[in-house]
Amino acid sequence: MVLPRPIAVNELLCFGSYLLMSEPSTPLMRQYVAIKKQHPDALLFFRLGDFYELFFEDAITAARELEITLTSRNKESAQSVPMCGVPYHSAEGYLSKLLRKGFRVAICEQMEAPSAAKKLVRREVTRVLTPGTAIDSALAGEQNNFLAAVARSDSRSDSQTIGLAALDLSTGEFRATEFSGPDAERRIHEELQQLRPRELLVASAMPLFDQLEQDERVLPGCTWTALDDWVFAPDYALPLLENQFGVLSLEGFGLSGRAAASCAAGSVLHYIRNTQQGTLAHIDRIGFYERQDCLALDAVTVRNLELIEPLFTGSGDSSTLYRTLDACITPMGKRLLRAWIVRPAIDREMIAARQHAVAALLADMIQREEVRASLSGVLDLERLLSRVTLESANPRDLLALAQSIARLPHVRRAISQVSSPSKRLPALHDLIDELDDVRGRIEAMVNAEPPVTLQDGGVIRDGADTQLDELRGLNRNGKQYIAQIEERERARTGIGSLKIKFNSVFGYYLEITKSNLRQVPADYERKQTLVNAERYTTPELKEYETKVLDAQERIVEIERRLFAELRSSVAAEAKRIRRTSLAIAEVDVLTCFAHLAASRNYCRPELLEDVEGIIEIVEGRHPVVEAQQDAVTRFVANNLFLNETTDQILLLTGPNMGGKSTYLRQAALIQIMAQMGSYVPAKAARLVTVDRIFTRIGASDNLARGRSTFMVEMTETAAILNLATSRSLVLLDEMGRGTATYDGLALAWAVIEFLHANTRAKTLFATHYHELTALAGDFERVKNLRVSVKETPQGIVFLRKVEAGAADRSYGIEVAKLAGLPPEVIARAREVLKVHERQEHKIEKSLAQDMARESLTQLTIFTPLSQQIVDRLRETDLDTLSPLQALNLLNELKSQID
Ligand code: ADP
Repeated sequence: MVLPRPIAVNELLCFGSYLLMSEPSTPLMRQYVAIKKQHPDALLFFRLGDFYELFFEDAITAARELEITLTSRNKESAQSVPMCGVPYHSAEGYLSKLLRKGFRVAICEQMEAPSAAKKLVRREVTRVLTPGTAIDSALAGEQNNFLAAVARSDSRSDSQTIGLAALDLSTGEFRATEFSGPDAERRIHEELQQLRPRELLVASAMPLFDQLEQDERVLPGCTWTALDDWVFAPDYALPLLENQFGVLSLEGFGLSGRAAASCAAGSVLHYIRNTQQGTLAHIDRIGFYERQDCLALDAVTVRNLELIEPLFTGSGDSSTLYRTLDACITPMGKRLLRAWIVRPAIDREMIAARQHAVAALLADMIQREEVRASLSGVLDLERLLSRVTLESANPRDLLALAQSIARLPHVRRAISQVSSPSKRLPALHDLIDELDDVRGRIEAMVNAEPPVTLQDGGVIRDGADTQLDELRGLNRNGKQYIAQIEERERARTGIGSLKIKFNSVFGYYLEITKSNLRQVPADYERKQTLVNAERYTTPELKEYETKVLDAQERIVEIERRLFAELRSSVAAEAKRIRRTSLAIAEVDVLTCFAHLAASRNYCRPELLEDVEGIIEIVEGRHPVVEAQQDAVTRFVANNLFLNETTDQILLLTGPNMGGKSTYLRQAALIQIMAQMGSYVPAKAARLVTVDRIFTRIGASDNLARGRSTFMVEMTETAAILNLATSRSLVLLDEMGRGTATYDGLALAWAVIEFLHANTRAKTLFATHYHELTALAGDFERVKNLRVSVKETPQGIVFLRKVEAGAADRSYGIEVAKLAGLPPEVIARAREVLKVHERQEHKIEKSLAQDMARESLTQLTIFTPLSQQIVDRLRETDLDTLSPLQALNLLNELKSQID
């Protein structure tokens, strides 16, 4: 081994690049050059005995960056090579220093022991360390070290989608998202800036980031790595991910249909597979997330919570939150309410602004009613407007628009008179444009009671257009003109019954009954013969006819033109009308909230900073169930307390019909209402905003997609476990029900353990497996709750009060009794239960013994046990252990061995 020696700077000048070097003189250097050629952009740490050595430019760079001595190999010969090195056992510190500075390092190890035969030792690169894949202990604990990738979805499609994936190899945290639309690039930049990845993978032919790459300010300290384009192709990326996670579809990770996000994730995986050793088994899941401006509710949750539609069709929609909250007056308001229900806000400031407005409207009952009254004549501005812009609005539509616009000053006045208004109300007041000019234009043009179509004329007002007025005058005076002719011809012919008539086929004609035919003058021209009469025309009548019919045609033509002009002049104001419409919608919804708060005794929730993730509800009620109940059955209010540090997971047990589901849903609905800006059905509420609500409730059937109920349940659960964050609220109702008891119990148990260990997601878990209540003893953030039941000689009574503690049994038979099962069936069920319980106890016992013995044997066979552990096993009375206790014991021992 060559020891380092100091080297003079001028010596450096004579060093050539290893690539330019003529054939290296020694086999070792030939080996080095061959390996270095495969990793041109990494510093090659070349293992030589107890040192990692660097040569050529690598040596110069490393010596400079690590402040170590630069020396040279073969310094006596003409092929002297610059060199530096670090001892292999203390390499880690040097490596992390280089990675932090943005360098890539390839580690080349000796793959066989040096033999006496002096043969050249085989060497291979075993790892490539890059800034984004660093996993050394020098990484800052509270910061993630992300390796990120961006991928564009197929550029042929119209709306471009850009995916982003980020992996922290040091923790296994792996997530992906994507953005589409015109501002996708901007949002990707924002996201990258938040994420602060150490390294970013891009396709070498991706123009988007070219100029960015130069700009250190955009992503300071980030190393850019270009990969071949094919690495980002879906055909390559998807199977790679599925294979890594051992799944058949990426749906459970929220990635189905997210090609851009998946491709970005695939390239990350490709990269680490190519740079790291090992199976990468800790990268076992990926979460799709959305950086949103609203509380995310997936389709399953919207359905489960019956936000918009009832779960069971046919039951009417009175069970939905939307129907319960809808006291809006205008169609725009109703639509906005629906939109807010499925996309509640997440921004505390926005929520607070709405709350202030509601508070002001709540306090001023008179003006609140004024606002509601003023809204009552406002029709669907948005829809009317879209008919106008799509040129399908008829005269009545335009008039309806004008009539709605006429209400706007009333609305504004009512808002402006609300006492102590908040910021939002004045802002909305200002956003409402009275649109006087638009209304004036319509009213000046369109008749007060116009026909539906333009076909027959009569749409445009008199006085609106002089030409039109003239033509109409002609028409109107025509009657008189005809009467004059009629009078004259009667006198001329002496036929008193002579009449001038009109029909649409023959136009104008003179009608003379058969008995008077002899008196018909010669200049009359016969037009038509009837049974009792003949019809004639004259040149004068013909001339008049063409004049009138012409005029009629032209009237319709002119009206059409004028109407079209009017419509497009209104369409030109679309922006103002739409803005006004949106403001009206918001005023409507806020007034609706105030109205509900007043009439239903809702309270204003206090929004907390995210610090401890508290959700505290005092005497909360279920808004829908409460609204449906009559005066006799009073809703029982319940408290709720969740946080991230002590009460993260609440396990709610109790009999069926006890009120568990209601309690869970109530929590979610109150949270949603609060984030909509509404008051909530409770005495008091203090809560943080959550980013997402997940639900796994009941057995929703998904038969159309050919999957069993259990499969659906597990897919939904997988999504929750992979996606829930500390800011999420998770509701799990009776999970594990779709399979055999022990499977279900085991799964439910493992799910809770996982949520406790891996997330701080606030979780409500309702279950009839009272065995699960044992978890509360083992996990510090799991707490037991139960729905209370009173046992009376007549049977059980549901008190519907949620209290601390675990239910001791399931009361299934008592509930069945309440349902009206025949007494003999109930009695028989009790007998069977007793026998079964005795047997189960036996089975449990032997299970525990078997398990513990088996584990013990395994442990002793495969692991050298310390005396301490052997003693611990000896002193435990295996016969008395329950299966769960046995499992716990086993885990405990395993962890000691580890
Ligand atoms: P579980 O999920 O325990 O089977 P549910 O939540 O479905 O029970 O409730 C059963 C019935 O009790 C429902 O009809 C519901 O309307 C009623 N209920 C639930 N909670 C309350 C409550 N706090 N006050 C009044 N009635 C309630």
